[in-house]
Amino acid sequence: MSDSIKYLLTEDRMPKRWYNLMADLPEAPPAVLHPGTGQPVGPDDLAPLFPMALIAQEVTQEREVEIPEPVRDIYRQWRPSPLFRARKLEKALDTPAKIYYKYEGVSPTGSHKPNTAVPQAFYNKEEGTKRLTTETGAGQWGSSIAYAGQYFGLEVDVYMVKVSYEQKPYRRALMQTFGARCVPSPSVETNSGRAVLAEHPDSTGSLGIAISEAVEMAAGRDDTKYALGSVLNHVLLHQSVIGLEAMEQMDMAGDDPDIVIGCAGGGSNLAGLAFPYIGRNLREGKKTRIIAAEPASCPTLTRGKFAYDFGDTASLTPLVKMYTLGSHFVPSPIHAGGLRYHGMGPLVSHAYELGLMEARAYAQTECFVAGVTFAKAEGIVPAPESTHAVKAAIDEALKCKESGESKTILFNLSGHGYFDMQAYTDFFDGKLTDEPYDEAMLAKSLEGLPEVAAE
Ligand SMILES: *Cc1c(COP(=O)(O)O)cnc(C)c1O
Repeated sequence: MSDSIKYLLTEDRMPKRWYNLMADLPEAPPAVLHPGTGQPVGPDDLAPLFPMALIAQEVTQEREVEIPEPVRDIYRQWRPSPLFRARKLEKALDTPAKIYYKYEGVSPTGSHKPNTAVPQAFYNKEEGTKRLTTETGAGQWGSSIAYAGQYFGLEVDVYMVKVSYEQKPYRRALMQTFGARCVPSPSVETNSGRAVLAEHPDSTGSLGIAISEAVEMAAGRDDTKYALGSVLNHVLLHQSVIGLEAMEQMDMAGDDPDIVIGCAGGGSNLAGLAFPYIGRNLREGKKTRIIAAEPASCPTLTRGKFAYDFGDTASLTPLVKMYTLGSHFVPSPIHAGGLRYHGMGPLVSHAYELGLMEARAYAQTECFVAGVTFAKAEGIVPAPESTHAVKAAIDEALKCKESGESKTILFNLSGHGYFDMQAYTDFFDGKLTDEPYDEAMLAKSLEGLPEVAAE
């Protein structure tokens, strides 16, 4: 076995095809429904928002989907991304477990998000789109679509959740550097934004509200389409490059993970790493455990309901069956902005419902403690979102220390935290608290779930 701590693939080993879990599932996920008719949506219903190529990827049952060469060409800027063995972290924890992490922070914007931003911009350009609208939480998605959009000459308008707009000026500047326009949400530019402001003038915003604004702007103009950075099947498909590369790198390391971990906001980085392993479990009867790590303040998988719901707050999106806290759930303004979404990708939700993965919820301060432990050992400061995966990995490694078992743990370090040092400063200053979500608000939000005849 190699003693190396870093496993690199040469460019020619970068995946040529994305992996689609849909092909291996024992049962198909529930249909996506039209909000007006309650009937399954067809391609025409989605055409105002997305290019046809992405709509086709949303429903394809093919196990493999070819990655277009212009996309691979841009991927080569940072892919294949490295896989590390966290030997110093293992030593710091004094654990018999072997810990590996796939590092997606090497991308131009410091997270896994360009893996889907680039193909989304590419397919839009191919089909004549001039402008993309989108929402962003912490700013990673906004900066990623801004970066990808400018390669293909697309205008990009980003509705940024207001709390993050104020807390993360550097992400905003990064979007502007790549030429995007960034608007704090809720804004007065849209009906949805104005409606929220009328009721809650001090609204700090949410991803659900920002999605409504971006969708409304895209639906209203022929030359404009909408881009979503997580949740949807085509996004999860694009992110599969992470897991496909990691499988080859784990082979290089002469190891195979017993446990695969990712943090979960909308589920895309988790799915990107884990779906190829779930597919292998299903095809080959392997028993690799998958763990989703989510924030206790926005506990979609662990406390939500598996039900049809809207993806946004203004009920503009199709109805998808997913784990949800209700589209009116507004989580406390924790720093892990990218994990503040009321729903969860329908494919991740379906896999969880089928028992193909587990989920844990962690409070933010224990995640920062884990993030600092990781940073000291490995020299990389994790994004606040990624600290949830770090926390889960450390917990599993410490369980091994107790039991004396030597398990192999692989987690996704979905991004670096160098734009989020204010969050670390707040943590060091003792300003971060573990505000639990509001039980009454959750109950009310779940009561408001739409009635769906098909259920
Ligand atoms: C956006 C983001 C997440 C959460 O999104 P998922 O779709 O759940 O992956 C996690 N980590 C980082 C670094 C992000 O930018």
